[in-house]
Amino acid sequence: KTFEDCGFAPELMRAIAKQGYEKPTTIQCQALPIVLSGRDVIGIAKTGSGKTASFVLPMIVHIMDQPELQKEEGPIGVICAPTRELAQQIFLEAKKFAKAYGIRASAVYGGMSKLDQFKELKAGCEIVVATPGRLIDMLKMKALTMTRATYLVLDEADRMFDLGFEPQIRSIVGQIRPDRQTLLFSATMPRKVEKLAREILSDPVRVTV
Ligand code: AMP
Repeated sequence: KTFEDCGFAPELMRAIAKQGYEKPTTIQCQALPIVLSGRDVIGIAKTGSGKTASFVLPMIVHIMDQPELQKEEGPIGVICAPTRELAQQIFLEAKKFAKAYGIRASAVYGGMSKLDQFKELKAGCEIVVATPGRLIDMLKMKALTMTRATYLVLDEADRMFDLGFEPQIRSIVGQIRPDRQTLLFSATMPRKVEKLAREILSDPVRVTV
């Protein structure tokens, strides 16, 4: 399998090559075609597997595929991650590929000035990477609207549950239109995460590495 098989546009292929990604990792080989087809996915994978690109690359394609949505406001892609460190990592990976298209990405997480993050979101973005608690704060402050969001990723769902973010995750998911595409990544699938997946994903394909 190659990245060419995914049918990525030349700009995206160039951005991938620029990262030095020669061929897709195992999780990317399995997940990319399914995510690109628009299906919901449960990805059982750990950090280091290349899981981030398996949801970031299709997110770029998803955003570019919706020109009519680009007139409205608010993120199209919403990514939740358990920690500031992971949110920053995902943000950096997203930015590498978003840049080629002028897609704007923002990251919001605890431990940073709420006012600065409020201002950044108010300036507009197509992608938001966030820790759940801070995203809820930003929604309460009306820093962003999620009416345009159609691509939701929950990364390291098991860790988000361990950190007690289940209520925040449920609140966020409840504010995003039900006809969204939803991807849930987790290193393990404890019963509580399995239950959430059953409730918020529709007819998901399971990918395990
Ligand atoms: P992740 O598991 O998403 O945190 O990715 C782990 C590391 O692998 C990151 O530094 C990525 O930039 C890198 N990576 C992701 N996909 C590929 C690929 N196809 N080829 C080479 N490196 C990659």
